[in-house]
Amino acid sequence: MKSSRFAAIANSQQRNSIAIEEKGRRSELFGVNVFNEHKMLQYLTKDALESLKDAMVSGSKIDRKIADQVAEAIKGWAISMGATHYTHWFQPLTGSTAEKHDAFFDLMPDGTALEKFGGGQLVQQEPDASSFPSGGIRNTFEARGYTAWDPSSPAFIYGTTLCIPTIFVSYTGEALDNKAPLLRALSAVDEAATAVAKYFDKNVTKVNATLGWEQEYFLIDKALAHSRPDIIMTGRTLVGETPAKGQQLDDHYFGVIPGRVLSFMSDLEKECTKLGIPVKTRHNEVAPNQFELAPVFEEANLAIDHNLLLMDVMDKIADKHQFTVLFHEKPFAGINGSGKHNNWSLATDTGVNLLSPGSTPMKNLQFLTFFINTIKAVDTYEELLRSSIASASNDYRLGANEAPPAIFSIFVGKQLSSVLDELEGVSKGKLSPEEKTELKLNVVGKIPEILMDNTDRNRTSPFAFTGNKFEMRGVGSKTNCAKPMTILNTIVAKQLKDFKKEVDALIDKKSLKKDEAVFNILREYIKTSKRIRFDGDGYSQDWENEAKRRKLSNNRNTPEALEILTSKESLSLFESMKVMSEVEVRARQEVDLENYIMHTQIEGRVYNELVYGFIIPAAIAYQNTLIKNVSGLKEIYGAAHKKFSEGQLTMIEEIAEHVVSLKKMVDAMADARKKANALKDTKKKAQAYCNNVKPYFLDIRLHSDKLEKLMDNQLWPLTKYRELLNLK
Ligand code: ADP
Ligand code: MG
Repeated sequence: MKSSRFAAIANSQQRNSIAIEEKGRRSELFGVNVFNEHKMLQYLTKDALESLKDAMVSGSKIDRKIADQVAEAIKGWAISMGATHYTHWFQPLTGSTAEKHDAFFDLMPDGTALEKFGGGQLVQQEPDASSFPSGGIRNTFEARGYTAWDPSSPAFIYGTTLCIPTIFVSYTGEALDNKAPLLRALSAVDEAATAVAKYFDKNVTKVNATLGWEQEYFLIDKALAHSRPDIIMTGRTLVGETPAKGQQLDDHYFGVIPGRVLSFMSDLEKECTKLGIPVKTRHNEVAPNQFELAPVFEEANLAIDHNLLLMDVMDKIADKHQFTVLFHEKPFAGINGSGKHNNWSLATDTGVNLLSPGSTPMKNLQFLTFFINTIKAVDTYEELLRSSIASASNDYRLGANEAPPAIFSIFVGKQLSSVLDELEGVSKGKLSPEEKTELKLNVVGKIPEILMDNTDRNRTSPFAFTGNKFEMRGVGSKTNCAKPMTILNTIVAKQLKDFKKEVDALIDKKSLKKDEAVFNILREYIKTSKRIRFDGDGYSQDWENEAKRRKLSNNRNTPEALEILTSKESLSLFESMKVMSEVEVRARQEVDLENYIMHTQIEGRVYNELVYGFIIPAAIAYQNTLIKNVSGLKEIYGAAHKKFSEGQLTMIEEIAEHVVSLKKMVDAMADARKKANALKDTKKKAQAYCNNVKPYFLDIRLHSDKLEKLMDNQLWPLTKYRELLNLK
């Protein structure tokens, strides 16, 4: 048997970094491939510009005549930039992005050729929707779906294609994508947060959710990645002995970035800059071959489009540099996995970050209002938020040593905790003038100073306040942020709406002053949401039990985590906030469960292939060598051979034991798969995969890894961790 391992290693050792030209300033390159405001000014009439801007800000409809004008302008710009095709770019429920390219080129009846692109093509298209998952929506309703222009995210040119960000909906109006519910959630949080922000500043007319993601990833040499069928088919290593030197030395984090990687990063950043993705920081992560890239934060919808685009650009640029990017949350056992922290806040159109403490007591009361309402929202809907980051691949990471646990809790830091404790003591009803002064001077007024050092050093809390934003840390590196951002913004919207109602009632019925009413309601929230606060101290050993006592959910796998989506409370939340109808929620649950089943099924099949096609044959080949050796010794020494062959004989037996176990387990797993596949109900099938199929994975891996350690290095067919994780 010939393995591709050594050829791949030889190949990878001959790589050189590609020189990347750094001409001009980044700021001059920024957005050259984007139809941004600057280009709009150049290409659009005043009327068209006004109504486009209006649509961008308020989501209002653009009439057909204006759409034609905008289309004409975009076409002119795109063709001048060398674009030949256009596509509606959308986010089907598969988790990535999809596009269908059409040429601008068209033939007239008389045979003359021209470039055609009108308002019709800009605004709406009908991709063949049948190959995208719909979770049953299409069967129940309409066969066709269409994509519709999202003017709030600008068109851009990628390669030679003009990409138009769109939503993807069925003809009966159900969202078939991740963007449509996101836009509805963002609109809900805008409405609710604007109403509350007006308590503090009448001039606020819009609130945007902001998002700054931090994308972690692994880079592996392309030849080495391709030498591993598991990496290519599942995005992770299904077997592999952890190397003698892994991340124990902590020498990779913030270390020197290897030359080839640096040139990949420069190339990537250049491309991102042209596409208007404001990338800013880059550094090594904790694990070998692991890196992170973060942009300046943006409005959430745009930030999400940019993250999806980035992941696509990364794949392409990596390929050019002979790398494979792994976005999987846990590509290597025994080494840190990858996440995508979602930094989130709310910003007003008057330029105020609502989660940033200010210089006056009033500004700080505003800060506390949004801060405490977010805590309350996460407390009420912690299980729903957990569901938004559930996936087969993230299951391998959540709850593992370095990653946030599957239990949601909020870190606010010692200082803010004591502020909350003080506020809890505020009297019910009217406040005395002394109490007010005391509050303003010594509690609310002191917030900015105490916040100077509010860092969560143990970094394990899944939801942490980091000075002027919350950081959601359980999001998987592969996940489309639209999912957690839809849930987070929906629950905060709902919470702010309830808050407003309660405060208004106190003002109207109990004739309290506005700030008194606000303090009163906040005090209640602090009391009732205490269980969700966890500063990482005291329970480190026993947090799971403590969380159980606090009645916090601990859904460790995807099928469990997805249950909550269709509870009566969840359905009524989505419906009342106009984010998703019951049909849409059920469809998403179905698609997520199907995805879970598919991924686990593929891993199971790849295990089969690895064990029968690679591992057992190699083990037997080595065993045969040992047997031949023992026979030879016997021939020479007769009965006395035992003295010399003792070690070999034990190894022959050990190999036999591993081979027997591997075969048994792989066969039993295949049986379990068959049984699971026979189940009709998606939920039951997902549970069967989770509880009856997946448990074999770890055991198979254990035996394979033991064999790897035991075997002749020359005969081991799968590229080893130390080879995969060695970048020059
Ligand atoms: P660090 O936490 O590493 O010290 P920063 O505070 O600059 O770094 O922010 C980390 C991430 O948080 C960055 O991706 C940044 O874009 C994002 N971020 C900062 N402020 C906000 C905000 N108001 N809303 C959303 N994201 C933000
Ligand atoms: Mg981080």
